[in-house]
Amino acid sequence: MTDDFRKAYDRLLSLSKEIYLLNSCMSLLDWDQKTYLPKEGVRHRGNQLAFLAGIRHQKATSPEIGDLLKQLEESPLINDPDSFESANIREIKHSYEKLIKIPQSLVEELTRVTTVAHEVWAEARKKSDFSIFLPYLEKIIQLKRQQAEAVGYERHPYDALLDDFEPGATIEKVAKVFADFRQELVELVKAVASSGKHPDTSILQRNYPVERQKQFGKEVASAIGYDFEKGRLDVTVHPFCTGIGPGDVRITTRYNPNDFAQAFFGILHEAGHGLYEQGLDPERYGTPCGDAVSLGIHESQSRMWENLVGRSKPFWKHFFPKAKKVYPEALKDVKFDDFYLAINQVKPSFIRVEADEVTYNLHILVRFEIEKAFFGGDLQPKDIPAVWNNKFKSYFDLTPPDDARGCLQDVHWSSGYIGYFPTYSLGNLYSAQFFAQAKKELGDLEEQFAKGEFKNLREWLRKKIHLQGQRYRAEKLVEVVTGKPLSHRPLMDYLKTKYSQLYQIRI
Ligand code: ZN
Repeated sequence: MTDDFRKAYDRLLSLSKEIYLLNSCMSLLDWDQKTYLPKEGVRHRGNQLAFLAGIRHQKATSPEIGDLLKQLEESPLINDPDSFESANIREIKHSYEKLIKIPQSLVEELTRVTTVAHEVWAEARKKSDFSIFLPYLEKIIQLKRQQAEAVGYERHPYDALLDDFEPGATIEKVAKVFADFRQELVELVKAVASSGKHPDTSILQRNYPVERQKQFGKEVASAIGYDFEKGRLDVTVHPFCTGIGPGDVRITTRYNPNDFAQAFFGILHEAGHGLYEQGLDPERYGTPCGDAVSLGIHESQSRMWENLVGRSKPFWKHFFPKAKKVYPEALKDVKFDDFYLAINQVKPSFIRVEADEVTYNLHILVRFEIEKAFFGGDLQPKDIPAVWNNKFKSYFDLTPPDDARGCLQDVHWSSGYIGYFPTYSLGNLYSAQFFAQAKKELGDLEEQFAKGEFKNLREWLRKKIHLQGQRYRAEKLVEVVTGKPLSHRPLMDYLKTKYSQLYQIRI
């Protein structure tokens, strides 16, 4: 009897592995499309990807998976909910049941509408005219509502969408954590703005030759532990990290010869994602326990290396002298404190992707509150620009001059990614909570960073998070690793301590 269960489980994992292998082929094609594909090859690439997506869908919804899952319901393998076996079964079941509930016709219509909507959105943004995008957004919302109804949810249809990016998250829990830190965040931004201190960021806009940016970026990525024998760094328009599989995790960036920060922190960010992917258990490849937990947890890893480590004083104690050697002209007359302040400038601005680590979360709050309202029917899509601008005024004390710098700036909604934005802030919240715990357990991390030592932190993250795969959902993982449920406290404490010192303010 037990043998039968073991056989069913092994068969389930081998089917899972086939889906992962197909996914990884698609990821490689996608990486190639974003880096090296000749312009004329785009249509053929589209055909290749659509073909593979078809096979993947067939495999992922095959009745055999359903039968095996049913068989395993009785199995002792699921007795301990925290075992790797039980987690694999739970997560395969979760994706399978979701997939078979969404009608194929709906999937196809969403693909069709979002493909066109992407072009329309780009045009609307260019002309800064929300009315061009409005009918498409309305259609997308309608289709996503159908999807939520098909998949099902306990309380709020938005939960069904959140689940695609942050499995197990609910609007109620997310809204609570966000509400807790909104007021404190707004006050911190205001206090910084009235500090009268203005970093000289022009020192970051001097001449930073691209070749040297590349060399320095690679050096720093290696120093934190990103393994170039198992990865590479290439150029793209919208930087990303992609895990192709064990031994192959690639990162990308973009360079601006007159901007030190963009590529540097971009590389650190992507290398943080890369460390997560490189840290997964290769023995469990092809199963949920050999895969990342969620977008939020992924983002916690990138944000930790980019901000909590990469924008910290001890980190630059080690790297600033090196940076001076790499850029002798640009940094010749620059003092450490001025450099450190410049890379940590807090300044309310219109564009999310350019935002600093303090105001960034307010950008996400605006989007989350608006999504929640229009998806729940409390806000008519036509009223989005007005509501956006009002919220922006109250959080940032700024009014977007046009919709291109307001509600039209992000690509997400046009791709049907409603429920995605919260994962960015969740990532920041998780990262601060993980980092505070790491500091407790690992002694003086700052001293280690100042000596260029990052191994302790990296290995801690690997053991506590990466190697666990999807054994725990994000919410539980935070509790297991830190002993406490997710809270806004560690992030707010980190931001307040750091920025009250930098801007010499009392909060
Ligand atoms: Zn990221």
